Amino acid sequence: MKSIFSVSAIIIVLVFGGLSASAQNPDFPWPEGKKMAISLSFDDARGSNPDPGATLLNEYGVKATFYVVPASMESDIEGWKMVVETGHEIGNHSLYHPCSGNFAWSRDRALEDYTIARMRKELSDTNDEVERLLGVRPEVFAYPCGLSFVGKGEETQSYVPLISEMFLSGRGWLDEAPVDPYYADMAQLTGMKMDNMSFEEILPIIEAASENRQWLVLAGHENGTEGNQTTYLSMLRKLSEYANDPANGIWIAPVGTVAKYVKEKRTAMEGNLNIPGISKPAANGNIYLTSEKGRGIGPDIQYMPEWNAFGWFMAKDRVEWDMNLPKKGSYEVWMEWSVSDEEAGKPFLLTSGDQTIKGVIKPSGSWETFQKIKIGELTLDEDFNRIVVASGQEFDKGALMDLKALTLVPAKK
Ligand SMILES: [Zn+2]
Repeated sequence: MKSIFSVSAIIIVLVFGGLSASAQNPDFPWPEGKKMAISLSFDDARGSNPDPGATLLNEYGVKATFYVVPASMESDIEGWKMVVETGHEIGNHSLYHPCSGNFAWSRDRALEDYTIARMRKELSDTNDEVERLLGVRPEVFAYPCGLSFVGKGEETQSYVPLISEMFLSGRGWLDEAPVDPYYADMAQLTGMKMDNMSFEEILPIIEAASENRQWLVLAGHENGTEGNQTTYLSMLRKLSEYANDPANGIWIAPVGTVAKYVKEKRTAMEGNLNIPGISKPAANGNIYLTSEKGRGIGPDIQYMPEWNAFGWFMAKDRVEWDMNLPKKGSYEVWMEWSVSDEEAGKPFLLTSGDQTIKGVIKPSGSWETFQKIKIGELTLDEDFNRIVVASGQEFDKGALMDLKALTLVPAKK
């Protein structure tokens, strides 16, 4: 029995482990009870974007984001002014569209030959140029060719940090998953292809994103009825009708509008969301392993936002915390928990690598009263460490405890 259970536990972790971030949180609060967000985006300032592209979207009141290369707009400034005046967003898609030199057309401006400083100057010049031509300054960016590096070999650098500093958001290209509004890095929004696809081909992607309460950022180029890198007008008509039908629960808005909304909601919910992730020492040297950062794994365990704690902690459940440390060191381990008198007294195990702290859950007074005590000491390695808290015995009824946080305090020498 025992070996069979542990095999199934491993499968559960493999299959569902990745879902714990969203499974422990309420559905993302999209406006007016909507189920998901869609942003339509078009790259390069193609000639077909103002008309028929924006013209068609205007029939439906749908606002999109156009990521432009300024020089490509100069032959149709009036058309692009219409795009701005009718409420669409203009984003930055760089001055010269640099991509990998593997594209022969980009060899004279290959990302392999770029530096961060050159990229910074050109992106700033792009913003100035868009403002000069259209009177608006881009707040959002899309990576040309979806590539986010500069340099070559050991000198390669990511320019995601630059985008994070300069823009509200950065969008990729040919990505395979929608944006998770709780988790996503705004500087690395995924962009899923809508060029050369029928509405019937895109609908399952929309339905899956709706199911998961996600943000689907679609990316395309030309607007027309045929041709390479073309988002079909027939698809845009059907998608606009579908998005405008209140029964489908879709919020369709430009990337910058949705990005601002997501950031506001995340800030408002800070401290009440379970987003498992890496913890690092605070300025005072302590490492605060809060329940917001912990990963609850098992059949019963639940993150309880009203208590900022893991509850329903049973024998087969565990909580994991990951951390990165600048150097090896010894730490006192303080645990903050609550338990009713009748459930108190069960053993627990805290493990980190081959070290174990064993203890017994002492009464805290009640489920509503949290206590904090030192439970032992650990030596942690430089860089990555994982701490796991679990029950020290099997039990059928009751619960182990409600676990709020661990605090690791540098041990006095
Ligand atoms: Zn492009």
